[in-house]
Amino acid sequence: MSITAVPLIDLARTHAPLEAELKAAFERVLHANSYIMGPEVTRFEAACAEYLGVKHALGVSSGSDALLLALMVLEIGPGDEVICPSYTFFATAGAIWRLGAKPVFVDCDPLSYNLELSQVEAKITPQTKALIPVHLFGQTAPLGPLRELAQRHKLPLIEDAAQAIGAAWQGHNAGTVGEFGCFSFFPSKNLGGFGDGGLLTSQDDTLAEKARILRTHGSKPKYYHHYVGGNFRLDALQAALLQVKLPHTDSYAQKRQAKAARYTQLLNEAGRPEQMTLPAPVSADFKHVFNQYILRLQNSEQRDSLMAYLNEQKIGNAIYYPVPLHLQACFADLGYREGDLPVSELAAKTTLALPIFPEMTNEEQDYVIEALLCWGARQ
Ligand SMILES: *Cc1c(COP(=O)(O)O)cnc(C)c1O
Repeated sequence: MSITAVPLIDLARTHAPLEAELKAAFERVLHANSYIMGPEVTRFEAACAEYLGVKHALGVSSGSDALLLALMVLEIGPGDEVICPSYTFFATAGAIWRLGAKPVFVDCDPLSYNLELSQVEAKITPQTKALIPVHLFGQTAPLGPLRELAQRHKLPLIEDAAQAIGAAWQGHNAGTVGEFGCFSFFPSKNLGGFGDGGLLTSQDDTLAEKARILRTHGSKPKYYHHYVGGNFRLDALQAALLQVKLPHTDSYAQKRQAKAARYTQLLNEAGRPEQMTLPAPVSADFKHVFNQYILRLQNSEQRDSLMAYLNEQKIGNAIYYPVPLHLQACFADLGYREGDLPVSELAAKTTLALPIFPEMTNEEQDYVIEALLCWGARQ
């Protein structure tokens, strides 16, 4: 059968072989008569802690709420500054802003798109209360140097690992190095649930205990509140369904890595159009789990032209992200101008995500590659 379309991601194919197990998990919850937190969540948390090699793992309502909860545990609020990248999903900075604190944006590295390490230190002021590196597209930020820098300035490190479950830096898993790790189970993440969900990890008993209390409105015991928390709980159903998928996380990552390597190899062999830059080779320090495979074009006209062509060919694609956070309208009061973070601004104008998912076939990938070459030949 010849290929006529390739989706950006196809969850139905991921779930098909698990259908019986997923239904059994649903029925277990249906008959347990317990729908929020409870033993399903406790079991899933233990399985996540074991998988990641982390002391504490707390199921939470979303990746965004994991970030918010981490900042609440650290009592970050008005007058405080938190350093984070500009080239990331909105939630990273949104969590800071929601607590009345100020996001301080750092530019990204032009190859990995992760936070530019050399620019972090200059942004630290007496008001700085935390650092939030993001492990973008499935590759960790340089965790060792970041950890060292954070410790030197006595600043807590919150890893936004929403796109990077299973990724590692020098053998250290994403989400286990900082004071907190924040994961998302949004359906399109490498471990995606069937609705919203997230995980907060920590190696610190005191921080984890406070996070546990804040997760349910700051009450301990029930109905006695020493803190004001929120409803950041995970549903039993999500935990039960995610537990079916968790054991496959490494296999999904390996398949994504293989697809990424195949894109790069075949595009290079075929004489990749000169307008396209492929993801930088991954150094041996990193285990990259390729939540996304990101192409870069030379300018926004080329990017938009390629996007239109892929849409015509019914090939899934997406821009992550079209507006860097320092230029978002809601942050206008922070006073950033175009040109302040040029690497992030250029990335927002020139990058394009291609289809990548564990079950993508070679035939589908060949169809995408063929389309990229065709587009290149027309330029
Ligand atoms: C998806 C994502 C989040 C938010 O996760 P949700 O579960 O959708 O709330 C946070 N940060 C990054 C980098 C993400 O990609």
